[in-house]
Amino acid sequence: MSPPLPYRGRLAPSPTGYLHLGHARTFWIAARRAREAGGALVLRNDDLDATRYRMDFAQAMLEDLRWMGFSWDEGPDVGGPHAPYNQSQRGPLYRAALARLHAAGRIYPCSRSRRDVIEAAGAPHEGGPDDEPVYPAAFRPGPGEPLPPLGERIGVNWRLRVPDGEELFFEDSRLGRQSAVPGRDFGDFPVWRRDDCPSYQLACAVDDADMGITEVVRGEDLVRSTFRQLLIYRALGLPAPRFHHCPLMADAGGARLSKRHDSLSLRALRAQGRSPESLRDAWAAGA
Ligand code: GLU
Repeated sequence: MSPPLPYRGRLAPSPTGYLHLGHARTFWIAARRAREAGGALVLRNDDLDATRYRMDFAQAMLEDLRWMGFSWDEGPDVGGPHAPYNQSQRGPLYRAALARLHAAGRIYPCSRSRRDVIEAAGAPHEGGPDDEPVYPAAFRPGPGEPLPPLGERIGVNWRLRVPDGEELFFEDSRLGRQSAVPGRDFGDFPVWRRDDCPSYQLACAVDDADMGITEVVRGEDLVRSTFRQLLIYRALGLPAPRFHHCPLMADAGGARLSKRHDSLSLRALRAQGRSPESLRDAWAAGA
């Protein structure tokens, strides 16, 4: 057996709002796991979605992470062997992965609207942020239907065909064994969007593989995405990292923290005079 690869972890915030306490806690766990393993930490700027991303949030994100006491070995501001670390600058890598999926016949174009899918499939049952209705198998192209070329500019969604009924597993280092059945728990999902932008699932898997990430630490709202990404690794013949999904933080009323919780953004807490140490102590105490 070959020796285990040296640990490489990552922080992958999206600059779509100010970072809040929930992000900081997840990142703290990621940074601690990398440090304890004597490994490296990569900061990746997930600024893929040009419609939601804002430059000032990207700047604020770096500042807030530094203020909180984070440091990283590679990232958009410090460079590194896997540069660029901004997803918006990594388009050719995603496009190359898409071309491989296309050549392998693993994807197909879909011009159904979200409404078509919801009408045929019903609303997603769990309602989590990474949940979408199970794409109806009846919407798939028929067997033997020729696959059109990708074309220079993409104007339809391209979906990955999932192996219906196969039970998928991974061992989460916090949650233990996780399983899901494609076709039941999630369906064919977009790897490329009709606005000619790669999907989060594709970009994330391609980057984690390209950057040699050995363990992905992120919130447990993304467990279902992990299964989708495992299928992308498999289709591309790439080794998958290990996973550690962290508990999500809730506000005093029990609602999951989101970027709408401005009062719990690191910016706001800092403006209120809170110190990074006091915030970390609150996590340690379970607050
Ligand atoms: N940028 C994504 C997010 O903030 C990253 C998720 C991940 O860690 O894979 O939700």
